[in-house]
Amino acid sequence: MTDELINLRGRSALVTGSTSGIGLAIAHKLAACGCNIGINGFGDPQEIRRLLSNIQERLEVEVVYCAADLRNPVSIYEGIEFVADKFGDIDILVNNAGIQHVAPVENFPDEKWEEVLAVNLSAVFHTSKAVIPGMTENGWGRIVNIASVHGLVGSENKSAYVAAKHGVVGFTKVVALENARNGLTCNAVCPGYIDTELIREQIRNTADKQGISIESVAAEMLSDKHPSGRFVGAAEVASLVAYLCSDVAAGITGSAISIDGGWSAQ
Ligand code: NAD
Repeated sequence: MTDELINLRGRSALVTGSTSGIGLAIAHKLAACGCNIGINGFGDPQEIRRLLSNIQERLEVEVVYCAADLRNPVSIYEGIEFVADKFGDIDILVNNAGIQHVAPVENFPDEKWEEVLAVNLSAVFHTSKAVIPGMTENGWGRIVNIASVHGLVGSENKSAYVAAKHGVVGFTKVVALENARNGLTCNAVCPGYIDTELIREQIRNTADKQGISIESVAAEMLSDKHPSGRFVGAAEVASLVAYLCSDVAAGITGSAISIDGGWSAQ
């Protein structure tokens, strides 16, 4: 599929957690399709400025930075208002930001449970609540929630993450049903392992704990979970998101689409 088939020129998108990893790949892809982009996430201010001007100059779209901390509803609503004011509207919302904490339930710190639920699930509710009225008024909108294969299956030591991602898949269905006649679609994307900082941190921690190399941990993870034997690329997820944002995907809503190298097929 070429970008000519996914023409998003004149549309505006907010991609949460887009200062790195999958979110940054999605921001690049949507911008390559002609979409104005709201970037959100943490990072070194100078580095964020650099990535904004990189997208703006290379892809000739408008890019703004939304400083919302997704743990805080007030900050979310202010951030959404800021981006909507800059662009006139938010046509596309990609709820991508996510964090992980790994521990068995009996040792899982309460504050980590709250934080993982806040960023991975509650923020998806708050951002959606803020953009749905504008999308409904315009008769066009796209919400894509980056869930995970952990929205479909469980893994030990990831209780908060698995609970949040299953919640995202359920929430996606409700938003899709409530807006099925409004020109608005809402879908969840469920990636397997993608080589980003979120996964690299888990790999480093396991390698340290077990006293083995990073390469051995990565190889074991893939052989255990990915029949494809390789990581899925962030750019592959970004292409799927761009497709879901296009007019030709108008019939897809309320779906949870796996992109996991075969993980959930086992
Ligand atoms: P990442 O760590 O590279 O990026 C996470 C982004 O979220 C960063 O931009 C970070 O600044 C931002 N963020 C974190 N907390 C935030 C907060 N409180 N407020 C605002 N921004 C915040 O991670 P990634 O691997 O690119 O993950 C992106 C999404 O994909 C997450 O929802 C994750 O659960 C999901 N996912 C990742 C994988 C994987 O293997 N990497 C697999 C399945 C699903």
